[in-house]
Amino acid sequence: MTGAGRTDVLISGAGFAGLALGAALAGAGLSVMIVDPSLGRPSGFDPRASTLVAGTRRLLEAIGAWDAIASDAEPMLGMEITDGRLEQILRPVFLQIHGEAAPGEPFAHVAPNGLTKAALLATAERAGVHLAPGRIADLRQVEGGAEAVLADGSTKSARLVVAADGAQSTLRGMAGITSRGWRYDQSAIVTNVRLEKPHHGIAVQHFLEGGPLALLPLRGDRASIVWSERKFQALRLAELDDAGFRDALQKRAGHRFGQIDLDGRRALRPLEFRLAADFARGRVALVGDAAHAIHPIAGQGLNLGLRDVAALAESVVDAARLGQDIGSDAVLARYSGWRRFDTALMTGAMDGLVQLFTTRSGPVRLLRDIGLGLVDRMPTAKRAFIRSAAGLGGEVPRLMRGETL
Ligand SMILES: Cc1cc2nc3c(=O)[nH]c(=O)nc-3n(C[C@H](O)[C@H](O)[C@H](O)COP(=O)(O)OP(=O)(O)OC[C@H]3O[C@@H](n4cnc5c(N)ncnc54)[C@H](O)[C@@H]3O)c2cc1C
Repeated sequence: MTGAGRTDVLISGAGFAGLALGAALAGAGLSVMIVDPSLGRPSGFDPRASTLVAGTRRLLEAIGAWDAIASDAEPMLGMEITDGRLEQILRPVFLQIHGEAAPGEPFAHVAPNGLTKAALLATAERAGVHLAPGRIADLRQVEGGAEAVLADGSTKSARLVVAADGAQSTLRGMAGITSRGWRYDQSAIVTNVRLEKPHHGIAVQHFLEGGPLALLPLRGDRASIVWSERKFQALRLAELDDAGFRDALQKRAGHRFGQIDLDGRRALRPLEFRLAADFARGRVALVGDAAHAIHPIAGQGLNLGLRDVAALAESVVDAARLGQDIGSDAVLARYSGWRRFDTALMTGAMDGLVQLFTTRSGPVRLLRDIGLGLVDRMPTAKRAFIRSAAGLGGEVPRLMRGETL
């Protein structure tokens, strides 16, 4: 389908998932339009940086976005998990993961979200994606496709419509797909800091009573902080003056990296769990947080979303090459079957981790520390963990193997 008012694929949402999917499909020769009310507006303040696992980096490279990110992305060479109490200056390390996804390839990089988003936007534009401010107000199925009514009253026909509009996706509801989930009793404080001692590419995750505190290595011996705390406590901490906030953070971060100094403003983010009942219905497919939103405890949300993107792009492009209808039930069933089970496992595991690591029960804490200690002594289990955390376990889509579509 081409021409005015018609496109092969209409995507709602120009976040990480929507832009990466648009760039991949347009790069493979399909016509793509993305609508998002935030397009054309200055992007809001977001101090976050994200871990981009090896599979994600390969996808970004394959679609042509990685070069613009690489110079400001810090390779993550290891991870240390500690468990302890606030008053302990040196926390016991229970699990250390050092290793590569493949020889010479770090298992993850950490990059500022603003940089990754800008690189994806430029890649989508270069690939010929039509980017338009707006939103889908109504959607109906028509012969051989779907027709969307946009908020400005114009209509757009597409063979396939994709919901990439985040955890509160309105398109998911329009497609008649339900979701289940809840808000955690935790919020995350996110900010950046400068470290007195070099981090050598090591990420640290402290499991504390109030929630996990992650220090992710950034360029120039800086770190991105993702600090989850019970909601009322997070609000109280986020509102402290700089000196009070710094002291509270230093107390929780310990002295692994020496003195910590604030490097920029902080933001507070609510945390939720949400999983869609299905990943596709009618002519609509869900990707990214529209399909699943998870706690940032293992820094996997964006990476899971890009795995959806890789699987959907592969299913659609293969179908187009065979002359099949790219929005048909058969094509979407391939995508849904590929991603639904994998995602249910991963999101279930992430929620289990949140429950396990926020418990105050002494016996459960003891058991979990023994468990972590055992894994720490099992090289085979650690290697399997690295492959899986790097996005290279199970049936890996072509883009995540670094191949073109
Ligand atoms: C504190 C915190 C730390 C995190 N750290 C990590 C990490 O280290 N690694 C990691 O992998 N993940 C991390 N995540 C998760 C990650 O940020 C999300 O999974 C990711 O942003 C989801 O991308 P997305 O494109 O699916 O959705 P979003 O980023 O939410 O983008 C959705 C887009 O849809 C648009 N939109 C909304 N409504 C509409 C509408 N009606 N019509 C059209 N467009 C619409 C929005 O404007 C936006 O552009 C973290 C999350 C949090 C909260």
